[in-house]
Amino acid sequence: MRYISTRGTAPVLGFEETLLTGLARDGGLYVPESWPTFTSDEVRALARLPYSELAARVMLPFMGGAIAPDEFRRLAADAYAGFDHAAVTPLVQLDHDLWLMELFHGPTLAFKDVALQLLGRLFDYFLSRGDHRITVVGATSGDTGSAAIEACRDRDRLDIFMLHPLGRTSAIQRRQMTTVLADNVYNIAIEGSFDDCQDLVKAMFGDAGFRGRLQLSAVNSINWARIMAQIVYYVGAAVALGAPDRAVAFTVPTGNFGNIYAAYGARAMGIPIERLVVGSNSNDILTRFFRSGVMATAPVTPTLSPSMDIQVSSNFERLLFDLYQRDSVALADGMRRFRSSGSFSVTPNQLETAGALFAAYRADDDQTRAAIAGTWRRNGMLVDPHTAVGLHAAEAARADRAVPIAVPMVVLGCAHPAKFPEAVTAATGVHPALPERLADLPERPERLVVLPNDLGTVQAFILRHARLGDAQPRGNV
Ligand SMILES: *Cc1c(COP(=O)(O)O)cnc(C)c1O
Repeated sequence: MRYISTRGTAPVLGFEETLLTGLARDGGLYVPESWPTFTSDEVRALARLPYSELAARVMLPFMGGAIAPDEFRRLAADAYAGFDHAAVTPLVQLDHDLWLMELFHGPTLAFKDVALQLLGRLFDYFLSRGDHRITVVGATSGDTGSAAIEACRDRDRLDIFMLHPLGRTSAIQRRQMTTVLADNVYNIAIEGSFDDCQDLVKAMFGDAGFRGRLQLSAVNSINWARIMAQIVYYVGAAVALGAPDRAVAFTVPTGNFGNIYAAYGARAMGIPIERLVVGSNSNDILTRFFRSGVMATAPVTPTLSPSMDIQVSSNFERLLFDLYQRDSVALADGMRRFRSSGSFSVTPNQLETAGALFAAYRADDDQTRAAIAGTWRRNGMLVDPHTAVGLHAAEAARADRAVPIAVPMVVLGCAHPAKFPEAVTAATGVHPALPERLADLPERPERLVVLPNDLGTVQAFILRHARLGDAQPRGNV
């Protein structure tokens, strides 16, 4: 299995290097050169498998022999053993034609755990095989940081340095990061904003000497392996609801287009998916695109669903690559125009192709609160604000007849309600409880270092604490 960059000039890589590289050298994103596909009988045989075995069947074809199947099965079983639900990503029925897929039973209570728990183990496996080491550096405004830290903690071959803006994350989000006391985990609170944190990380990646010496790496959502790991639960849900003999539809609350692109991947593998519905919050660049064919940025507005407060959907480039019929020259040109002017558009033909599969709806904060309240009233279930955006979009898609009546709809439950207690309590009057294993989170000791918004100081701290030096750096690709 080979991976090519959407921009066309980065080296073609195998799975291992694609995993370890993340963003392609030409600024593009890696995608498989061709999608592995299942026959109908192979899809049928996936029914009722344990999650880790389903994960092996779906992911092994993407790894092209980079890892022995039994070794991978061991990693996958280990990655998903730590989830609170035996089914890992259970489906809960909300109505005769509506299901919720709960993706929040992992260690940090959001869907990012599903991919990152596996990725941490894959990184460690490939790095120890090559006797290499890396240093993971990232910036977070909340959710991504805790999932990345949980994925990397106690791994022999990597150290993780996570920057967050001092005093600007919620208490739960901060504590999910700072109460991890593993030796290879460093939480750095920057005296500045989230943008300052991101600028520091970008500057460190831009410093070739620093980057090389520490073998800097990122585990953000542009990493191909995260998409691959997310394809699994779409396949699982479709098979549980009747694939290959019955098609399903999914509604995905999204900002970066990462999670919903994995659904697109499941479809490319031969899973019958009739429709994909995008749920946007007020930062609705994706919804506007699917209505108009124009991708145009607007200022970011804070909402009740902060993990989707994004104006540039980095993973969208992977879909555009196919809309451009994999013409990387034309795509690179479009992305350049987008970068310089903040806007670009696709042709009516391309929009029609996209519209045949995707529909998109937006929920503002009032509609989000109404969806949380309505789900509590009808189902006695508390949902987080991101999930609520999805529930609103699914209902709008049904009302619009964007999804045929016979097709079951699955909405993705992206975070546990206890991760966003203020919004949930305000909408329902009920305070969502943390799961038992996290009940003492407010009392656990924290460890973090506060540093000024100064590149030299942050780099000096990382150089002093990263373990790199006693192993061979990984060669550049
Ligand atoms: C990260 C995140 C999202 C957005 O995911 P995309 O990569 O934009 O698809 C939505 N909800 C929650 C809870 C998240 O943590």
